[in-house]
Order: sequence, then structure tokens, then C-alpha cells
Amino acid sequence: MSEHSFATRAIHAGQAPDPITGAIIPPIYQASTHVQDGIGGFREGFEYNRAGNPTRSSLETQLAALEGGVEALSFASGLAAEDALLRGILKPGDHVLLGNDVYGGTYRLLTKVLAPWGIETTTVELADAEAIRAAIRPETKIVWLETPSNPLLKIVDIAQIAEIAHAAGLTVVVDNTFASPALQQPLALGADLVVHSTTKYLGGHSDVLGGAVVFGDDRHFDQVKFQQFAVGAVSAPLDAWLTTRGIKTLAVRMRQHSENAQAIAEWAESRPEFADVFYPGLASHAGNEIAAKQMSGFGGMLSLGLSAGADAARAFAESTSLFQLAESLGGVESLIGYPPEMTHASVRGTALAVPENIVRLSVGIEDVSDLIADLEQGLERLAR
Ligand SMILES: *Cc1c(COP(=O)(O)O)cnc(C)c1O
Repeated sequence: MSEHSFATRAIHAGQAPDPITGAIIPPIYQASTHVQDGIGGFREGFEYNRAGNPTRSSLETQLAALEGGVEALSFASGLAAEDALLRGILKPGDHVLLGNDVYGGTYRLLTKVLAPWGIETTTVELADAEAIRAAIRPETKIVWLETPSNPLLKIVDIAQIAEIAHAAGLTVVVDNTFASPALQQPLALGADLVVHSTTKYLGGHSDVLGGAVVFGDDRHFDQVKFQQFAVGAVSAPLDAWLTTRGIKTLAVRMRQHSENAQAIAEWAESRPEFADVFYPGLASHAGNEIAAKQMSGFGGMLSLGLSAGADAARAFAESTSLFQLAESLGGVESLIGYPPEMTHASVRGTALAVPENIVRLSVGIEDVSDLIADLEQGLERLAR
């Protein structure tokens, strides 16, 4: 499969027709256990669902192929994947360097769940190479980054950070949820591991929760696989199947998400109601150059800073109709949110707090003129 280009791999990797019936789509193996041909005689290695399931395997093969990894593991949620990765690799006393604008749930996992078990975490501005070097300690094991970041769409140079981290013997983890492998492939840029909330663009239809770890080489695979098996936060067969189905259209969806978001960002830049437009596809965005170098498109996420301040941002988030007010992102339908009280409520007042005057858009793949008209009527309602 690896000789094929991305869009082809997304459709065919791990998706061979059923060998018995020829059904073009592999079935959903909705079974908890597999009959053995004599004790220990496992067919294709399958024994019990927590240890392995053919539908989950088919998704894991697809995920590894998309990111150019050697293996992938799929989980019940993005945070379950992150937890298995961290506990698989780290031991008490170890230290993690975390980008200072990563997903709030990642910060919460490290500082509220894993800290009591002896894992230390420091947040750092990853755009500052000197700050990274200065924050590395003898106990540091992992540098964890997210680009584009949430909700300010900050871009960091994956290759540069990988170089600094590898010089100190650290493992580089990239949360690639916002870009998806259709637009950015961190392993090829030097990262060691990629994590995903497949709930977002990979699933793509807001109908399933899931997560994944993709491995650039074999070093950490056994430890994380053991966590998956021993703890059991696996993806259920139907969820895995829905995710494989979503992934098949990832390439075309990401093209349209990016095209729509670019048009909305350019429209928003022309409107005085917005003091700031955070979108890496704009020449005015600080990360535009690096994004153009490491991404093949700028994605569907953008944030808008309301000139009139926090109350206006809150009101705007409640004034649109096609852009529906909801958490999450990455589905075909457009969403709007007010990060300080929604996605980023748990980091309000911490080092990861976000500006109070922003709304975040997950731009869907509806017709972009309808989307812009919806935002325009939202602004008109604000003015009334
Ligand atoms: C949603 C999200 C997660 C967590 O994933 P869940 O599937 O909700 O557990 C992690 N990272 C990013 C960037 C996300 O957007």
C-alpha cells in the first residue's frame, strides 16, 4: 500500500474485501471472542476482543498507512490513546515538556491524573528554541506538541523541535488532530509518535468517539500495546468501522474544509467587527510560512477575535444558525464555540488560558456562500 498516494491509501489500506463472501466492505466483527482450533489454536491470532478484533485491526492498518507509520493502535477516545501512550512510556519521576497551548484535556490528563502518580509536566513556548533547551531536565522523556494549536492556530516547526528533542534523547509526540494526516504527516518531519482524536476529522461525521497512537518505529509499540490490552480502553467494533468509513473520504473533505476556511478567513479580515483572525492560511498569520512548509493545506479550524470584546464574542457564538453552537470539531457540519467557557473552561486561569474575546469555528463542507451569509446575519444581530 505504501507505494500509493494518500487518497488511494485512505480508501484501500486495511480494507480488503471479505475473503469468504467477496463483500467489498470488510464486515463489522461484532464478537467478543473467537473460537479456537484446539487450545491456543487462534485463527489469524484472534482470541478475545480486548486483545484484538478484526475490525479494529483493519482501522489500525489504515491509520498506520495514512501517517506513514509502522504500526497504529486505536482506542475508545483520543484521551484514552494519550493515556495509554503516556503510561506505556513513562514511569514515576519522569518529566514531560508540553506545548503551552495544547488541548486542555491533555493538560488535565498530565497535571490532574498522572501528576499524583509521579509524572511531572512543564508547559513551554515551543516557538522559542532556547526556552525548550532550557526546560529540558535529566528526567525529561517526552516533548509533546500540537500544531496548528487550539484555539489560536499557532504553528510550530515540527522538524526543528524534533531536532532539539532528539539531540537530548527525547521522544517527540505530535497531536495531529487539527491537521489530520491528509494535510500534515509529522512522522516524515521527524516526530516519533502521532496521536489523534479520531472523533474529529478522521471520523469526520460527528457520530463516533475514538483515538489513536501511530508509531514511527517499533521502539514503544509493545509498551503501549500492553496498556491497550491490560487496561482495555479499546475502540468497539462498530466505532472502529465507522471510523474506517469516515477516513475513506478524508482527502476530499480536508480539501473542502481548507477551501471554505480560507474563504471565511479572508472575508473576516475585511470586516471591522473582527480585531483578529487566527488562520494559518492568511499571510498576516505569524505561522503562515512554517505552515506552508510543513502542511499541504491549512485546515478547517479558525478563530475570530471580536473587536467589541468578550460579551460580543459570547453573543456572536449564540447568533448563528448554520454554525451550530457545540463542542468538538472536524465534522462535515459547521460548528461555533466560545472557548473560554466551552473547550477551554478547564484551563481558565491557568498557563493555558485563552483570550476572552474569541469564538472558534470548525468550518464544515457546506456551501461556503451559505456559511458566510450565516456569519453576516450573526453580525447584523449583534449590531441590533
Ligand atoms: C478532542 C481532542 C482530543 C481528545 O480526544 P477525545 O476523542 O475527545 O478524547 C485531543 N486532542 C485534540 C487536539 C482534540 O481536539
